[in-house]
Amino acid sequence: MKKWLIISPVLAIFIALLFLYSKSDETINSSFNISMRYDNNEFRIIPYLKINNVIKFNNYSKDTLILSFNKTPHWTNSIKGTLIDSLNYKITEYDNDSSDIVIAYNSKEGTISIINRDQSKKDFTLTIDYYYKYQYNSILESFKNQFATINCDVDYCNWFLINPNLTFNYIKIDKDDKYRVICNNQLINKTDKSYTYDISTTPYSDINIMLINDLFYKEEKINIGKHQFRVNMLKTYSPDVDSINKVYVIDNEREHHKNHYDSIINSFIKYVKPLASKFSYKSLDTDIFEVKWRSDNAKQYYGRGYSGGNGFIRCDMRFFYGSGIAHEILHKLCNVEGDIKAPGFLFINESIIEAFTIYACYGDNKEQMDSVFTNLNKRFYDKGYSDTISLFKIESNSNPVWGKVYYKTPYDIYMFSKKRGNEEFWNILNDFMIQDIKDCKWIDFYNFFIERGLSKDELNKLKEVI
Ligand SMILES: [Zn+2]
Repeated sequence: MKKWLIISPVLAIFIALLFLYSKSDETINSSFNISMRYDNNEFRIIPYLKINNVIKFNNYSKDTLILSFNKTPHWTNSIKGTLIDSLNYKITEYDNDSSDIVIAYNSKEGTISIINRDQSKKDFTLTIDYYYKYQYNSILESFKNQFATINCDVDYCNWFLINPNLTFNYIKIDKDDKYRVICNNQLINKTDKSYTYDISTTPYSDINIMLINDLFYKEEKINIGKHQFRVNMLKTYSPDVDSINKVYVIDNEREHHKNHYDSIINSFIKYVKPLASKFSYKSLDTDIFEVKWRSDNAKQYYGRGYSGGNGFIRCDMRFFYGSGIAHEILHKLCNVEGDIKAPGFLFINESIIEAFTIYACYGDNKEQMDSVFTNLNKRFYDKGYSDTISLFKIESNSNPVWGKVYYKTPYDIYMFSKKRGNEEFWNILNDFMIQDIKDCKWIDFYNFFIERGLSKDELNKLKEVI
């Protein structure tokens, strides 16, 4: 025991040195070059992202490093390796003998292993080229050739390789003349052919890129107070490809009805102005895109809208003719992160957002606000949604529980607000939402309201109802 005490400080210094040494060993920087690969027929869906990934290793001495496309265990049999195509890799810069480095791609696992056989310190650059195939999911979306989005909030397969030791420096997007690049990261270089953005401090989930084909969009800049909303409306209702002549058939319906744009803009202002005026001290500047996810023969829009904290908003037309657009803008303001399965995530990130949206849009007219909330509750029962499951047990906001998340719970929040004397509750909620909510749990909401004077008892009662 005594011997150990003597050795201990020496050991501590040795460990500290080892730690510092290994830290500098693991400098791995990555950058991307992305371009879209087009089909011969330019009017068809954009099928691929072409990725060129340059990874620099400095003083690298670990024996094995595994880079993975696979973010979660959801890399299932059905998609294993199917999204990555024509993968090639090579070491492009090397300080001495490159034969000591072995690189292997495992398409079944979606991994690239870098094996350093003699484990001596090495400087080298690895370039990896591949195509990421178009998928109708949250990573890469495109509709005909109107737009394409490249997001990093991936469900199961990244379009980029990850490892905890790997940091991303920048992303360079090769630009085609037809496309306008929208990206909310810091632009560090711009040429006629490309845009380069700094992503060194951006979490994966905040890297959102959208490529817009201006042939199909009409942009209207709307200034409300200090905020600027760049609303991009589709010029056409039903673009389609004439499969025989391979010609794009533009439906000029909207061009022939100029007041259609006016009606969209007027409705947008009606719903967004009251919300924007509540947040006059915080920037709400946003690029908003109307997108059409439905197939051409579907009669109705899907009613989908997406908004990312650092990104842009894309939603279908229905959102512009109601408070849906204000709901999406509020998402951007609140920037909630967290796991959708965490208890309270849907409560905070959807039900509260929806309730506050209605308060913001209709709150100046109490009767109208009351009728909007009451109608939500009515719709919940009319459409036959079940109230037997707690919102805290719901792990997805898809159809069977849609009504609970967007109709019933916002109504319950409204009823709770009435008990507290309306304005007091909404003011606290307003303060809660403008914090930088990184994690998102019921307990955060609960503690915040306790601090502002609500009782444990009344908050627990609210939780019981929802
Ligand atoms: Zn939402």
